[in-house]
Amino acid sequence: MIIKYIIVAALALTVLSGCSDDSSSNNNSSNTAFNPKVDQSVSSYEVTKNAINVGKDYHSFANPESIKVTHLNLDLTVDFSKKILVGTAQLDFQKEDLNATQLILDTRDLTINNVTAMGEKVNFSLANDDSFLGSALTIDLPAEADSVLISYQTSPKASGVQWLSPEQTAGKKHPFLFTQAQAIHARSFIPLQDSPQVRMTYEATIRTPKALLAVMSASNDPGTERDGVYEFSMPQPIPSYLIALSVGDLHFKSMGERTGVYSEKGILDAAAAEFSDTESMLIATEKAFGPYSWDRYDLLILPPSFPFGGMENPRLSFITPTVIAGDKSLVSLIAHELAHSWSGNTVTNATWRDLWLNEGFTTYLTYRIMQMVYGDERFEMEAVLGRQDLQADIDALPANDQIMAIDLRGRDPDDVFSNIPYEKGALFLRELELKVGRENFDQFLLGYFEKFAFKSITTEQFISYLEQTLLKEHSDQLSKQRIEEWIFQPGIPRDAHAPESDAFSIVDQARDAWLEGTVQADEIDSKKWVVHQWLYFLNNMPEKLSQKQLADLDKVFALTSSKNNEIAHSWLLISVNNWYQPAFNRLHNYLTSIGRNKLVKPLYKALSQTPEGKIMAQKAFAEARAGYHPLTVKANEGFIQ
Ligand SMILES: [Zn+2]
Repeated sequence: MIIKYIIVAALALTVLSGCSDDSSSNNNSSNTAFNPKVDQSVSSYEVTKNAINVGKDYHSFANPESIKVTHLNLDLTVDFSKKILVGTAQLDFQKEDLNATQLILDTRDLTINNVTAMGEKVNFSLANDDSFLGSALTIDLPAEADSVLISYQTSPKASGVQWLSPEQTAGKKHPFLFTQAQAIHARSFIPLQDSPQVRMTYEATIRTPKALLAVMSASNDPGTERDGVYEFSMPQPIPSYLIALSVGDLHFKSMGERTGVYSEKGILDAAAAEFSDTESMLIATEKAFGPYSWDRYDLLILPPSFPFGGMENPRLSFITPTVIAGDKSLVSLIAHELAHSWSGNTVTNATWRDLWLNEGFTTYLTYRIMQMVYGDERFEMEAVLGRQDLQADIDALPANDQIMAIDLRGRDPDDVFSNIPYEKGALFLRELELKVGRENFDQFLLGYFEKFAFKSITTEQFISYLEQTLLKEHSDQLSKQRIEEWIFQPGIPRDAHAPESDAFSIVDQARDAWLEGTVQADEIDSKKWVVHQWLYFLNNMPEKLSQKQLADLDKVFALTSSKNNEIAHSWLLISVNNWYQPAFNRLHNYLTSIGRNKLVKPLYKALSQTPEGKIMAQKAFAEARAGYHPLTVKANEGFIQ
C-alpha cells in the first residue's frame, strides 16, 4: 500500500527516538500463513489472536523445541576484496527431545562447505530459498553429538552485512564493514537458529587486515592491540539478532568509567562531546530500573549509510552519525539504545509479533531517562512529539497494522515496523503508570526486569504477569479489558493520556500569528527556541504554503542550510510538498550523503508523487544507491522506479 500522508507532520516526526527500526513503513505482502499450525483457544480478542500459535516464531525454520543451540563459537576472516566473511561456526546445542536426530538452522545466501560433528563429516541439506526467510539448513546428527562445526562463507549480497569502500567512509583510506542482524538478517552471515527465543552465549575470533580494528556486541577491550586478530566473548545468553560485528579504521575515546565511543578518527571528538551524558544516563537508569547487566556500555558511530537511528547491540550500540548535532538535541536516541539494555536485550520479545515488548518498554524508559537527565520540559516536548508520530501512523496505517501484538504471518518484519510498537506501547505503559502511581509502577518494572531477565517472552506471558501483579493490586484502577484493548485492538483507546508541553504552546501561537499574517517571519521571537520547538514549528505547518511564505522563512531562519539533520529533513519535506526550488540543491546533497532510511524515505516518497519530483528522486537514488545499505535500497526502490 502507499501510505497517505495527511499533514506534513505525518512525514517527519519520528525524529527524537528511534532505533534499529526507525523507519515507518508498510508494504503489501500477502497475509498468507506459512505455518498452518493453529491454536484453537478461545479468547475475548479472537479477531486478532485467532489462529495465531502464540509463541511460535513464524520467521524461523529452526527447531529449538527439539534441539536448542546454546553457544556459538565463530572464527571468521573478513575479506574486503571479495566482500565475504569466510570461516567456521561451531554450534553447541542441547537436546530438548532426546530422540531428535536433526538440527535445523536458518541461513540466507550462505555457501555451506561442509559440516562436521565429533570430528566426522555429516550429511546436511539446504532447502530451497524462501523470498524473505532464506533457506533451512538441516543437519543429520550422530546420536552422541552435542556440537557441530560448519564451514561456510557469506555472499557479497548478504542482507545483514554492508561493505563500504574507502570513499564511502569519513577517512577515505580504509574500507569499512558493519552488520545489522535485526530482525532476521543474522542468518545471512551466520548459520544459526535465527529466532529471538533462542538465546546463546558466544565467542568469536575475527581476522581482518592489520590496519583495521574489529568490534563486536561482546567484550571490547578499549586497549586492544591492533594486530588483525581479535577475540571476543559474550558471556550472557543473547538472541541472534543482537550479534553484531563492525570492522574499520576505528578509534576509541572514553566518556566515563564504563562508557566510551568508537568511530573513525575524524568524528571521534565530536561524537564523544555530543554523547558525553551517556555515563549519567547509565547511572540514572540503573538507579531507577535496576542494575545494568552488561559490564561496559560503548557506542559505535557508523558512517552515514547506516540505515537506522541506532541498533541496541549489547555492550556496543551502533549509532547513526546523523544525530551528532553539536547541541545534544538528538541524544534521546542514546537513551533509547541504552534503555534496550533492560527492555529487549535482558527481557526479549519471543517473536516479532511481540516486538512491542521490546520497543514499547524501551520508548517508555527513554522518556523517563530523558526526564531524569534533562528535566521535565524536555520530557514533555519529546512526549508530545512522540504522540504526534503515533497519530501520523494511526492515520496512515490499515487497522490491522495498528495492533501492538501484530499478526506478521507471511510478512517480512522489516516491512511493517512503525510507531505502533514504539509509541503506542509507551503510551500504554504511561497509562498504567498514571493509574497506579509512578512509585508503584517503578516497583512493577523492577520486578518485571528481574523476573524475566535473560528470557524471551510473549505478549501473553506479559499479560499473565500483569494479572498476577498490578492488575491484582490495583483492580480498582485497571481492567483486563482495557489492557487487551490497548494490545489487541487498532487505534488508541478513548481517553488515553494526551501529553502537553508549554514550550510548544508558544510555538503554536507564533505559527498561527505568522500564518494569519499578523507577524512577519523576522518578528517571530525564536531566539530561545530549542531544536524540538523548531521541529514542532515546522512539522505542524499546513500542507500548502506559498512561495513567498517559504522564501520568508528561509531568509530569516536559513532553513535550507540548517546543520541539524532533523530540522533539515522537516524543511526539505515542506519544500518538496510545495515545490520550493531554492532548497533542491540541498535536497540532492542530503539524499546522496545520508542513508538513514527514516530521513530519506519520506523525501523520496514525497518526490515520487509528481513526474518532475520522480525525475529528481531517480537522479539522487542512482547516485546514492551504491552507498546505501541494502535495507534502504529495498525500502525505496519500489516507488522511485
Ligand atoms: Zn528500539
